[in-house]
Amino acid sequence: MTTTTTQSPAALPQESKAALVPLKLLIAAPRGFCAGVDRAIEIVERALGQFGEPVYVRHEIVHNRFVVDGLKDKGAIFVEELDEVPDGKPVVFSAHGVPKDIPATATQRGLEWLDATCPLVSKVHRQAERHAEAGRHILFVGHKGHPEVIGTMGQVAEGSITLVETLEDVAALDFPESTPLAFLTQTTLSVDDTREIVAALRARFPEISGPRAEDICYATSNRQAAVKAIAERCDLLLVIGAPNSSNSLRLVEVAEREGTPARLIQRGSEIDPAWLAEVKTLGLTAGASAPELLVREVVDRLREWRVVEEETVTTTVEKMVFKLPRQLTD
Ligand code: SF4
Repeated sequence: MTTTTTQSPAALPQESKAALVPLKLLIAAPRGFCAGVDRAIEIVERALGQFGEPVYVRHEIVHNRFVVDGLKDKGAIFVEELDEVPDGKPVVFSAHGVPKDIPATATQRGLEWLDATCPLVSKVHRQAERHAEAGRHILFVGHKGHPEVIGTMGQVAEGSITLVETLEDVAALDFPESTPLAFLTQTTLSVDDTREIVAALRARFPEISGPRAEDICYATSNRQAAVKAIAERCDLLLVIGAPNSSNSLRLVEVAEREGTPARLIQRGSEIDPAWLAEVKTLGLTAGASAPELLVREVVDRLREWRVVEEETVTTTVEKMVFKLPRQLTD
């Protein structure tokens, strides 16, 4: 499905516009906010309405500075650790999820806490618990240091889960054949890379338990498929997202894997017009934590330099909505 509109550069005089080569802009759909991000932001906003300022948020609610700054302006205070939250103040846990001891400590301290963990991440947490209860050692495919990975690994006892990042990591595993094993994956990985790692795990440990498909979420898969659908037609692809946003980084990789150069940008102001010198067709997408407003900001910036012919290429239409925590709906 495609929709097309043509716009002229806003900032240039009429005679200069005429001399410019038009820029075909292919905008991927779906892009930007997913249901988990929508829900997490709404939880903070509703908590501010219910409890008043300030509401503490442990870690960036979603990995986007624009979103975080907007919530700060409304009265949210972002911290990295629970001990930075004063007694008596409400705290929200970010969409990436937290290790089990964090809500337990918050409860011990008598804090009012709200869990904005994406339900699709929580689902992986429950799977981890079930495997641990069944005595299986878990091989968790993910990126070291990402908060989702820290949160999921923190659902089970230390020593009962091992992080696997690469095919080399799979080759280096040396569990005896009799060890009951299971695998799980981070939700925001590259669909293609993960398929290879899971295939290697299954080849190495034929008895391994795991989900039928990987745990990569619908939003991550859909955004990667949308980039694949346009990458071949583009001379360059821009991904709006933060450098610590896993799903945004993966979108850059997907384009590059298709042979299309790609750049991660946080705002329109980061675009260097020199990047566009040889570009006739530009691709544009946004990671799951980047608001649509930033997409429009990028389009407006492009219009300062070129006649822009926009085409939205839709590969699927998302209708996912997640329920809010009961504390905010009763
Ligand atoms: Fe949930 Fe996927 Fe969105 Fe992460 S990217 S918040 S897992 S829907």
